[in-house]
Amino acid sequence: MEAKPHIAVVPSPGMGHLLPVIELAKQLVLRHNFCFTIIISTTGPPSKTLIASLENLPNSINHVFLPPVCFDDLSSDASIQAKISLNVTRSLSFIRDALKSLLSTTRLVALVVDLFSTDAIDVANEFNISPYVFYTSAHFTLSLVLSAPKLDEMVTGEFRDMSEPVKIPGCSVPVHARDLPQPFQDRTSDAYKWILHHAKRLLSVEGILVNSFMDLGAEVFKAFQEPGKPPVYPVGPLIRSSSSSGSTDESDCLKWLNHQPTGSVLFVSFGSGGTLSHDQLNELALGLEMSEQRFLWVVRSPDNSSSSGSYFSAQSNAEPFGFLPKGFLERTKAQGLVVPSWAPQIEVLSHGSTAGFLSHCGWNSTLESVVHGVPFITWPLFAEQTLNALMLCEDLKVGLRPKANENGLVGREEIAKVVKHLLQGEEGLRMRHRMNILKDAAAKALTEEGSSTKSLSEWVLKF
Ligand code: UDP
Repeated sequence: MEAKPHIAVVPSPGMGHLLPVIELAKQLVLRHNFCFTIIISTTGPPSKTLIASLENLPNSINHVFLPPVCFDDLSSDASIQAKISLNVTRSLSFIRDALKSLLSTTRLVALVVDLFSTDAIDVANEFNISPYVFYTSAHFTLSLVLSAPKLDEMVTGEFRDMSEPVKIPGCSVPVHARDLPQPFQDRTSDAYKWILHHAKRLLSVEGILVNSFMDLGAEVFKAFQEPGKPPVYPVGPLIRSSSSSGSTDESDCLKWLNHQPTGSVLFVSFGSGGTLSHDQLNELALGLEMSEQRFLWVVRSPDNSSSSGSYFSAQSNAEPFGFLPKGFLERTKAQGLVVPSWAPQIEVLSHGSTAGFLSHCGWNSTLESVVHGVPFITWPLFAEQTLNALMLCEDLKVGLRPKANENGLVGREEIAKVVKHLLQGEEGLRMRHRMNILKDAAAKALTEEGSSTKSLSEWVLKF
């Protein structure tokens, strides 16, 4: 039997959940000599992006793909939260097999789940393995989730009908119901029921690692110390050091950036699966053009029915760019570059030409931007992104939020105005300054004596 402590992780599906798990694994392998097995539930053959992210990892980090789960019985309007959760729940027998096999060959000390894979805790309990959570989103959303069961008992009716803002423990910014994560917008929805289900289970684990760091929200971390909550360990920001797969599209993108002036380009990307409606995509294109600022835009084909339309595939459904406004590519060829589906985000954010990030505010993208000191235009689409955007704009003051018009669309003039403010205006300069302070704090948290390094070491002492 292998002598090193071994940890099994069951991330819920989606690159945004898997990538930070890989980074956590690397920290534990390199700093603490652990072994890791990542148990990945699937709905079909793994995407190229997923496979690429698992290549070239240290030998002590293994992975297993579980057989695909069938969703044929789900109604077409099943929420993304339901699908992600069920992907894991319906894989429990395979997770059990994987753990049994690890137990017979390794010194398995813990099973780590995330917000949407908490049903795997049952299997950990069956085998008497300590369950932990690696929370891959923000500390303030963790604070909301941990208080959700209490909130659910206290509030009758919909949160949006409350006259007062919602109090998230440790958050000084008033959070109006409209800024709560998507599942909280409708308490009768299956998305809300799933969140509540997972929230209750989170309170039962032995500890929660969170991909954030002290200086992003000391008051929130203090609030976690209330009795009745599991210990919380800030271990971030855990982000990749590179996201390039070396493909031709990707190197074209970086070559293009090399030819742009320092601090001049807005990077526009909606994460691994975010999509816009056709009308919104049109306005964004024309707004970028109207701003006369340089841009690098990762474009996915529009989806009028869902803002997370490419979540499971990370691919654009139609190429080339027939859906962009007529003549747009030709008119903007000296101003911007449009790339399909995917860009090497880390390389783009760390490039000297990049000055701003129009982002959907997924937590990984948020941390990556913080680590590289790039301020935001916030464009939340789904999940908890509205709350991330609110905190970036109102608490940390490193983001500008364009306003939607009465039809719910952000118009081209508004886009052009906000882009110019961020890239050329005084407020943009102040945001860049604040971002640089956060960038330094993020780097410090991960030094040998940094708060996140110490916090991870404290967790490791349990084994
Ligand atoms: N990403 C990337 N290239 C892209 C789009 C996304 O490398 O073109 C990476 C990005 O760097 C981040 C992750 O995919 O690490 C997206 O995670 P996030 O939490 O921001 O959003 P999600 O995809 O979960 O909505």
